[in-house]
Amino acid sequence: LRSDSAPLADRAHALLRDVFGYDAFRPGQGEIVEAVARGENVLAIMPTGGGKSLCYQLPALIRPGLTVVVSPLIALMRDQVRALREAGVAAGALTSANTAEETDAVWDALHDGSLRLLYLAPERLASGGAQRMLAEAGVSLIAVDEAHCVSQWGHDFRPDYLRIGALRRALDAPLAAFTATADAETREEIVARLFDGAEPATFLRGFDRPNLHLAFQPKDNPRRQILAFAGARKGQPGIVYCGTRAKTETLAQALREDGHAALAYHGGMEPDRRREVEERFATEDGLIVVATVAFGMGVDKPDIRWVAHADLPKSIEAYYQEIGRAGRDGGPAETLTLFGADDIRLRRSQIDEGTAPPERRAADHGRLNALLGLAEAVECRRKHLLRYFGEAHPGGCGGCDLCDRPPDTFDGTEAVRKALSAALRTGESFGAGHLIDILTGNETDKVRQRGHDGLPTFGVGRDLSKGQWQAVFRQMMGRDLVRPDPERHGALWMTEAARPILRGEDTITLRRDTIDRAREQRPAVR
Ligand code: ADP
Ligand code: ZN
Repeated sequence: LRSDSAPLADRAHALLRDVFGYDAFRPGQGEIVEAVARGENVLAIMPTGGGKSLCYQLPALIRPGLTVVVSPLIALMRDQVRALREAGVAAGALTSANTAEETDAVWDALHDGSLRLLYLAPERLASGGAQRMLAEAGVSLIAVDEAHCVSQWGHDFRPDYLRIGALRRALDAPLAAFTATADAETREEIVARLFDGAEPATFLRGFDRPNLHLAFQPKDNPRRQILAFAGARKGQPGIVYCGTRAKTETLAQALREDGHAALAYHGGMEPDRRREVEERFATEDGLIVVATVAFGMGVDKPDIRWVAHADLPKSIEAYYQEIGRAGRDGGPAETLTLFGADDIRLRRSQIDEGTAPPERRAADHGRLNALLGLAEAVECRRKHLLRYFGEAHPGGCGGCDLCDRPPDTFDGTEAVRKALSAALRTGESFGAGHLIDILTGNETDKVRQRGHDGLPTFGVGRDLSKGQWQAVFRQMMGRDLVRPDPERHGALWMTEAARPILRGEDTITLRRDTIDRAREQRPAVR
């Protein structure tokens, strides 16, 4: 049930979270991290921006002692060393850009054995001193970034890279080579020169999982939406991910009442009970597990036929990792992710109220925005998703809801400008509900008390219903035009991205289907 690597996978996830501050591996990272951490020789080909550096930084913390990273990019090395130190990892670099003090500090840390990662510029390998010093310090992993620099025919050839093979032999340590260049000749040269021709474990999978069907739906009645999705797949094993522990119980109950075999699973349950659910999921036919994200690590059931998200995941990485649990056998698998304005608010406030430093929070908002952008995408989701992970896809995949049924869009510039001006005229101090009351000319007590019925924007949005405005605001949040301020009860403030629209310098396309869905639900009251 749980693979032998489960303890290693658990450790890797704990480090991913605690040291690097990420909630999920990007596609491909998890397997590479585990192979490198086990001490295998590895060649990994990943697109630029795919997240290569984590694939050696994280294993470096699992391997005992010192990891040496060879990289030709001095600025990048210095950035990585700085980031690692901020995360509490003993890292240093030996490059031509070092000051004498920096170099002394690195040597000291090497001598007392406290250094975990040493970044080394390739020209350092030319001196016998570095080699001797590394042999004495004891190296348990050599990582080579931009490994294609060893290719004499490539335009990035670095003669000093030819010394890495000798270094590996001298240190007798496993070597992990990374590159974004995938052509077969370059790969052969890397294997010949870095690994003496002994075939390493090679990772060259694109990120795409063509057998996974991708779909998103705005929440209207989430329970009914999940029951409908599961109902169309009765008897097939699936996972429903929920945002809270309580919801796993109620939704599992609802599924059982609908005639499914369904069990709840979350981190608050007794370990014995959790193991029991994992075991039943692995062995029984057609069981549904309704779970928090605690379910999944080390679950390697190959024939999971569907994954549904009853609540929006934390980030685009978490989304892809979670849906990626379906269809491991290569057979077709369906996914559905629900999202609503409440999810966006919740995820934003979780980030803002977390303990992460400001720059990490900004990055977390960015990763959430990426997922929201995917949720409200107007063309092929697969293309959108893979672009985020650095991989080109022509679109028109035929395996997503947008390819199945291209959405109807319309120019939403005017609606968005009305919404923005309602927020600005009320001092960016109110949430969507109150702003919608103003736009639709709804004379609530709060509107009257604040004198907002006298604003020029009062009632200018009567052409849309309350539900339609909610869809507009949700799409605005999804595009990060407005953000709720957790310290002021979710008051919406306008981001820089909204300015060109407000000034009339940019237009915005909105999806009509989510707006129409809102209209069906809640007829406009005039
Ligand atoms: P490259 O493959 O080009 O070397 P990097 O290692 O610099 O890519 O990573 C690219 C970006 O992806 C970085 O901003 C990094 O913070 C981010 N990243 C890497 N792994 C993850 C992850 N598991 N979750 C979220 N972001 C990640
Ligand atoms: Zn598609």
